[in-house]
Amino acid sequence: MPTLFLNTINGQCVNAKSGRTFPNINPASTDEVVGLFQDSGSEDVHAAFDAATHAQPAWAALPAPRRGEYLFKAAEILESRLAKLGEEMTREEGKTLPESKGEVKRAINIFRYFGGEGARAFSYQIPSERENVFCYTLRKPLGAVGLITPWNFPSAIPAWKMAPALVAGNTVVIKPASLAPLSAYRLVESLHEAGIPAGVLNYVTGSGGSVGNAILEHPALRALSFTGSCEVGNQLQRKMAGRKVRIQLEMGGKNPTVVLRDADLDYAADILVNGAFFSTGQKCTACSRAIVEKAVYEPLVEKLLTKTRKLKVGNGLETGIDIGPAVDSNQLETDLKYIEIARNEGAQLLCGGTRLTGGIYDKGYFIEPTLFAGVTPEMRIAQEEVFGPVLALMVAHDFDDAMRLANCVKFGLSASIVSRDLARVHQFINRIEAGLITVNLPTAGVEYQLPFGGTKESSFGMREQGPAALDFYTETRTVYLKYTQ
Ligand code: NAP
Repeated sequence: MPTLFLNTINGQCVNAKSGRTFPNINPASTDEVVGLFQDSGSEDVHAAFDAATHAQPAWAALPAPRRGEYLFKAAEILESRLAKLGEEMTREEGKTLPESKGEVKRAINIFRYFGGEGARAFSYQIPSERENVFCYTLRKPLGAVGLITPWNFPSAIPAWKMAPALVAGNTVVIKPASLAPLSAYRLVESLHEAGIPAGVLNYVTGSGGSVGNAILEHPALRALSFTGSCEVGNQLQRKMAGRKVRIQLEMGGKNPTVVLRDADLDYAADILVNGAFFSTGQKCTACSRAIVEKAVYEPLVEKLLTKTRKLKVGNGLETGIDIGPAVDSNQLETDLKYIEIARNEGAQLLCGGTRLTGGIYDKGYFIEPTLFAGVTPEMRIAQEEVFGPVLALMVAHDFDDAMRLANCVKFGLSASIVSRDLARVHQFINRIEAGLITVNLPTAGVEYQLPFGGTKESSFGMREQGPAALDFYTETRTVYLKYTQ
């Protein structure tokens, strides 16, 4: 019998009012139910907000360094369970065990970093033009905040939203993705084991249409942080229009890696394989377009093909596996649909392109890493997010052409360049339309202590992570204090 996981509302583990549950299925072995989760509705979200609003004044009154201590304790608890939590993540999301353990470690680091922010939540003092007047700013929490997260980083993203929200003195209602709710459950559990007061952190599972919608419609909501698809993010933005609720949307990407003629091609091919195929290409920062200067296009493609053919696809729990399954049948169908579209539009399939079958592959949603050559900018494979292990190769005539190709999409999340030409690298940094820019590194692989976010259609609102995160979760108060009368 699969384990039953409950909502956490007001410090209690409770069933959804509906009495219904939904299964969390292992995408590498679909006969395994990882757990049963609560199929909640608006009544449960209302109970969570009641708890969050009630708990908020006392939580905000606690000195910030002491709020941070709960994060430090939870980090210890998570660290003591790292191996188990990594394995659970692989079972629910499909990424390989080293990737899962790395993500749990990242969540732990995020808790530690923001635990420390409790003692570093700086505001500033500014000179007054009047005599004996002392001016400074204060940070105040917003109140009860709603967090809606995707399945692809089921621990890191909930961690990088809840940690700054909590340390800033807000209380939280979090709805994780229905495809991977267990990893966020473990974070919430660790904070309760660390002794966080009842009602400060509430966890409610259920579909986006019911639980997600009830969060954004709730009158007590003071801020909403969402990560997910552009389609849903844009819907949420329209629904929130006219309300005085702070929102932050982190959405999709169509991230390019530009390879210039002076690049070390072996190194460039490694960067492309890592950026495009690891985590099954299911990263918002995954590279989905390789834009290569004509002079080195052919030899780079050769190297890329050799490296891609060596990748091992399989159950991420096994050793030596590079790429796990697609997260579910819908994502697999989307990957295959885009492969079909690309072929029909005239892109040349170099390798991959099919669902893997036979043996263990029949139990899950496995797909080969796929390379397309001869991709041109008007093709859908060059413009739309696939979110799978599919890389489009495009030829650039020169550096300016590479910049034109890199920027000719509606997205602007991450972008990278592989080159030793310092002048070109700086021009790239100046001209690329992306929030996250990497040089001689994959498009993916960002760190928690730096601001994170995109431009154009990829993001809306303030940055997440690093020192920027506290700006979203706090409001500035300005004080003018005359110390004589
Ligand atoms: P999604 O379908 O947009 O779902 C994201 C979250 O929104 C889930 O919790 C989902 O709930 C919820 N949701 C769905 N419909 C909703 C509604 N009508 N109202 C309120 N909430 C709703 O995205 P996904 O498939 O989980 O994640 C993949 C996408 O996330 C990709 O586009 C990827 O690029 C993007 N992403 C972006 C970043 C970034 O930082 N920029 C990071 C990671 C992923 P259910 O799970 O119950 O449907």
